Amino acid sequence: MTLIEDLLELFHVERRLRSLRSRVDSAETYLAVQTRQMHSLQERHDELDLRKRQRQAHAANLETEATGIDERTEKLRDELNAASNTRQYHAVLNEVNNLKDKRAEVDEQTLVELSGVEQIDTELGELDEKIAERRTVLDAATTELATRREEIKGSLKELDTERIAKAANIPSDTQRLFDELSDDFDGEVMAGIELIDKRRREYACDTCNVHLPFDIVSRVTGRPDEIVQCQGCLRILYASENAREALVG
Ligand SMILES: [Zn+2]
Repeated sequence: MTLIEDLLELFHVERRLRSLRSRVDSAETYLAVQTRQMHSLQERHDELDLRKRQRQAHAANLETEATGIDERTEKLRDELNAASNTRQYHAVLNEVNNLKDKRAEVDEQTLVELSGVEQIDTELGELDEKIAERRTVLDAATTELATRREEIKGSLKELDTERIAKAANIPSDTQRLFDELSDDFDGEVMAGIELIDKRRREYACDTCNVHLPFDIVSRVTGRPDEIVQCQGCLRILYASENAREALVG
């Protein structure tokens, strides 16, 4: 077989390998997106949870403060009943009134905290639903990826072995060029020469459509152990059936 024929065989294996892998790649990408979204939902959840606990702790402190105020007020009322003169009576009464104001303030703050907690609870409830939905999608994506990996496992192994065998026929510098082009063009390493006009001897690259001068065409067809790259798209050129026939005929 000629070098170009060997390269074409490698090219076909390479394309099958890449299309097989792309099935797994797309499932991997999808799973990664789902995982990122889940992560950001969970971050939001943790953040809300922390805020909720902070507000609950603050409300608990306020309640303790309220109990303290009530106890002090109770004691002052006893003192008020036992007051021996007007001055003392008014002094105690003044403190009772101050405490009453303070108590109202504490109650108001407690209410603010508790309604804050309630609001957070609503948000957390909505978030939990979203997380549950996302979990279902995430689980499905995980299963899908595992299934696809399993599906291609056998064929992938076969093709890998085939690729090694096909590549063994090709000189190492040409292999390097092939691999580079394959990485750059996602496996589309080779381009056929198409006959455009037989009478005018017009030919073009079937990948980038650039017109190919006749000496290039005759080199590709006449020296099939030589590498000729398209000037337009850098693919390795091979003569397609109609181009070869046109040259012969
Ligand atoms: Zn081209």
